[in-house]
Amino acid sequence: MITSWHERTSSEVAQQIGVEPLSGLRDTDVAERLSKYGFNELIDRGGKSAARVLWEQLTSTMIIILLAAAGISFFLRDYKDAIAILSIIVLNTLLGFSQEYRAERAMAALKKLAIPFVKVRRNGRVFEISSRDIIPGDVVFLEAGNLVPADGRLIETVNLRTQESSLTGESEPIDKDAHSVSAPDSPLGDRRNMVFRGTLVASGRGQFIVTETGMATQLGHIAGMMQKASQDLTPLQKRLDKLAKQLAVIALMIVGVVFLLGLLRGEDLKNMFLIAVSMAVAAVPEGLPAVVTISLALGAQRMLKRHALIRKLPAVETLGSVTVICSDKTGTLTQNQMTVTVLDVAGHSLELQQSDHRSLLEEKAAGKKHSFSLLLAGAALCNDAVLNEESGVKKIVGDPTEGALLVMADRWGLSIEAIGKKFPRVNELAFDSNRKRMTTIHTLPEGDLEITAGLSNKPFVAFSKGALDGLLELSSSVWLDGAIQSMNGDWRERINAANRKLTEKGMRVLGVAFRPLDFKEGKAEILEKDLTFVGLIGMVDPPRPEAKEAVEKCRLAGIRPVMITGDHPLTAHSIASHLGITTTSQVLTGQELNHMTVEELMKKVDEVSVYARVSPEHKLKIIEALQKRGHNVAMTGDGVNDAPALKKADIGVAMGITGTDVTKEAADMVLLDDNFATIVSAIEEGRVIYDNIRKFIKYLLTTNSAEILVMLLAPFLGMPLPLLPLQILWINLVTDGPTALALGVEPAEQNVMGRSPIHASENILGQGMGWHVMWVGLLMTFLSLVGGYFLWAQGQQEWQTMVFTSLTFCQMAHVLAIRSELSSLFKMGIFSNPWLAGAVFLTVGLQILLVYTPVFQEIFHTVPLDARQIGLCALSASGVFLAVEVEKGLKRRSVK
Ligand code: ATP
Repeated sequence: MITSWHERTSSEVAQQIGVEPLSGLRDTDVAERLSKYGFNELIDRGGKSAARVLWEQLTSTMIIILLAAAGISFFLRDYKDAIAILSIIVLNTLLGFSQEYRAERAMAALKKLAIPFVKVRRNGRVFEISSRDIIPGDVVFLEAGNLVPADGRLIETVNLRTQESSLTGESEPIDKDAHSVSAPDSPLGDRRNMVFRGTLVASGRGQFIVTETGMATQLGHIAGMMQKASQDLTPLQKRLDKLAKQLAVIALMIVGVVFLLGLLRGEDLKNMFLIAVSMAVAAVPEGLPAVVTISLALGAQRMLKRHALIRKLPAVETLGSVTVICSDKTGTLTQNQMTVTVLDVAGHSLELQQSDHRSLLEEKAAGKKHSFSLLLAGAALCNDAVLNEESGVKKIVGDPTEGALLVMADRWGLSIEAIGKKFPRVNELAFDSNRKRMTTIHTLPEGDLEITAGLSNKPFVAFSKGALDGLLELSSSVWLDGAIQSMNGDWRERINAANRKLTEKGMRVLGVAFRPLDFKEGKAEILEKDLTFVGLIGMVDPPRPEAKEAVEKCRLAGIRPVMITGDHPLTAHSIASHLGITTTSQVLTGQELNHMTVEELMKKVDEVSVYARVSPEHKLKIIEALQKRGHNVAMTGDGVNDAPALKKADIGVAMGITGTDVTKEAADMVLLDDNFATIVSAIEEGRVIYDNIRKFIKYLLTTNSAEILVMLLAPFLGMPLPLLPLQILWINLVTDGPTALALGVEPAEQNVMGRSPIHASENILGQGMGWHVMWVGLLMTFLSLVGGYFLWAQGQQEWQTMVFTSLTFCQMAHVLAIRSELSSLFKMGIFSNPWLAGAVFLTVGLQILLVYTPVFQEIFHTVPLDARQIGLCALSASGVFLAVEVEKGLKRRSVK
């Protein structure tokens, strides 16, 4: 491949690469090139293959210790034990592998979904394809907020600037120019006619011919650096890792004591060694962090079903502790289906019904028809949306606000295509969320068109549309029935009053102004001044029907929804009160935020739930103030400049439909349906996952502590060691597995969204879990030992099997009882988690098999229990179950 594209003109490049820029590649080229160059993707070394997952399973410390134990048993010619240990390793590895592999696949599937779409021209048509399908020769469109999908030579640029810091380290955006030709040895940062994969479009728009894709791109060359998928542990994993280490120390000390006591009692050294190994394996909860990853990954998959795409795994757990959701208004809380309902020129207001036909509109407009026409022509010209007609139905392509203006202009009888041709656009200042307006410069046609009557005889005209407040400040005159009048206080007041009337009803209001010009180039400060104000356009955007309910759900869940919008304060307040986001009249505006320090804002953030006329930078300030007040903040964003706020928030949320690639890239979570209610669903799912992880830990630690205590206390009662090494391994590595997995799919607790969020820094063992582990562990120990003790005292050989079976049964009873933190199992019904019911039956069945079939009796050294004895085991289990039910009952009372 040639790499000196930057030294050539764009037509040379097009010719060289074999594409006609105006029509793009043809289907035949596409197939051929795709097979030649492959997909446009970087080789991902982040994900794990099946073999790798298996290898990691087999080389975990626990398995290595067990393998050593099996080896030693084999060496000592204890083949039965060696084979049994090996079988347990195989069973355990299979279980672990299948879980982790499923989690890996879930994550890989999520990653694939996150691939952005790009606009390309092929076969003379423009459409969107996955950026993975781009090939050299493709003509690709760029606009602000896009991530450049491949390397290429620019063929058109309109104020295009890209941010290339990922490649060159240069953080200032670079001006691009399709017409320039760079020197042969110019460094990447100076190649102004080229764009590179992985860089961002900061502003403007352009088109380029793809020259390299995938690993052949500049980014591909340094891919090794970029691909280091971060292996950082999630906060919960870190805490668990620490916990596991602390517990390991305690457990190993106890193992040491048991080992010594055993030796002192004259137990066989080999036997004691195997017991120590089994106990160590049992007691050290080294698998906890892995279990968390699996729960989170599978949780992320469940969230996807509810339209929330998780991009960063820790987000799943952070979601559970969100206390404030800062949400955009348009499209997230509202439907983003704008309809113009009011036109207002020079104090003459027209309220429009959907059913108004053209002649009725003209009648309503009466003598002001010309002003209304100019208002709508300006709105249609200063506009990037397109109205496509497909089988008689007009469809909007582009921004819904702009689309609504085109629909209105069309209803008014303006031919959008015709005026576009009469007033060709020669320059533009794109809309941005700081200025909150947009301006386009057009050649002013000669001759007396209806619309232009009275405009002036200058060669150019600028049309600006945008937020009324800003536009009014820039206007020095006003358009009054075909004549320009100077703007005075009266006019200002009349226009503001009209604006107030509409915004109070929750409408989005745009002003339109124009300015005849002698020149066409210049910055915003030069072009956007001395405007002549034409009028206002009011549009409605109904709230999403599900938003109100979601807001209510947040309130019950102790989460505060906050609206942050670029719209007018009255519009914002009207919609926020309708949805129940605010009950006061307090609104903070961007202007007020400008004058506040973060400390001053901190005093207000707990009361103010509506922020209006804000720019993306204000979002950072709001997050900072909230975080300093101890909140865990989820923040939505869609625009180019929202990325820093999304990064700063605890959970950055990007819009899947209207969001830019840049925000998606920065986000922890993407809303595939742009819907506020989806954030709330994801939080709910996050809480369920957190709950289930806690239940799992509770289950595991309780069982482990019971086992260790049984081994530790028995010698003090004068008994020999009650459990044999294989029995310990069985309880830990086999009977734990299926039940633990099934706990992971435990449905949501009834009150999951009826309680306050769990604080991010709260100990996972908090809320009484530490106590639970201790007292239930002791109870299990007592109940399992008591029966065994009497049998042992009577010299009956069943005593050991009885302790073993009691423990397994108690464990099953416990898992059923802790399915809910508060609700009784009697109320939930055993089959409300059929997987768990199945796992418990399976485990009990296996235990019976171990006790009553000769093969297993031989391996596990069990003896058959009679009806009374097995009944006693069941009774012990019922004891544990009832005790935990009582604990929950007491908790329920205290919650009430
Ligand atoms: P939200 O937070 O409600 O989603 P936003 O913050 O994205 O809205 P913007 O789209 O930035 O709001 O719009 C802010 C203001 O800019 C609007 O109130 C409107 O007056 C003006 N505006 C919006 N879209 C355009 C546009 N295409 N052209 C000109 N002005 C616009």
